[in-house]
Amino acid sequence: MSSKVPPKILNNGVEMPQLGFGVWQVPDDEAERAVATALEAGYRSIDTAAIYGNEAGTGRAIAASGVPREDVFVTTKLWNADQGYDATLRAFDASLAQLGLDYLDLYLIHWPLPARGKYIDSYKAFEKLLADGRVRAIGVSNFLPEHVERLIAETSVIPAVNQIELHPYLQQHASRELHEEQGIATEAWSPLGQGKGLLEVPALVAIAQKHNRTPAQVVLRWHIQLGNVVIPKSVTPSRIKENIQVFDFSLDTEDLAAISALNEDRRIGPNPAVFDMD
Ligand code: NAD
Repeated sequence: MSSKVPPKILNNGVEMPQLGFGVWQVPDDEAERAVATALEAGYRSIDTAAIYGNEAGTGRAIAASGVPREDVFVTTKLWNADQGYDATLRAFDASLAQLGLDYLDLYLIHWPLPARGKYIDSYKAFEKLLADGRVRAIGVSNFLPEHVERLIAETSVIPAVNQIELHPYLQQHASRELHEEQGIATEAWSPLGQGKGLLEVPALVAIAQKHNRTPAQVVLRWHIQLGNVVIPKSVTPSRIKENIQVFDFSLDTEDLAAISALNEDRRIGPNPAVFDMD
């Protein structure tokens, strides 16, 4: 089975693999093993964050993999406590040092924290990092349309990516439409709805049987056909391999419609309008 992942071309021409590997809630040592397995299985994009506490293990796995640095797309995220212009520049240096890298592929503001009013200043530091060639693309995460609009109005670089919670129960139509208009790539976090529950839904099980695939592969394929970037997580080697085998089959119009019908605008994670944590 082919595991060749096509690129998503970001709005500054940088190519990001459309499917990558997420490491949230994976302790550092385990992340090292899981990232090594993912790179071995053909993943070439890794999504970590300062707050995950596994940038070091992620970096060790990349270094030991033998995969050339330029062939791996590495994303990390600015944690909430580090928002603000100067603090952002310091946090970026700390993340690069943890990762053991001399440049980053994508840096994201992890949460907008609208009540703190710092995301514009943080993003201006991102623009400096981009201009200085220390990161290849900059973007945001968990930004609601109103935050994206304000950012575009008050800064110079349109974000390349907005990484948001997105799965069949939360299809994010308003954000996806805005991103489409503005040339922002939509990246889905918890693309499998964190596994439990969603992957047993009869409509998904039926589509999986029809294509001789698993429900996880069907959900990931749905994202791919919508144009989303996805970063499924697993620490189980067989699932890590399974989740990248989604480029050698297609869902038909009827399958896509059945999955679209599952939308309930239901979040698993926090609401970005009010989420605020250090
Ligand atoms: P996910 O939707 O990727 O689900 C992961 C879980 O699904 C696994 O722990 C496992 O229980 C199950 N699973 C995975 N593959 C499976 C398979 N083939 N069959 C059956 N079950 C399977 O959830 P996630 O980890 O929350 O999200 C993915 C990544 O998104 C994270 O690792 C992280 O990198 C990113 N993320 C970002 C934010 C953010 O605020 N920006 C928040 C959450 C997650």
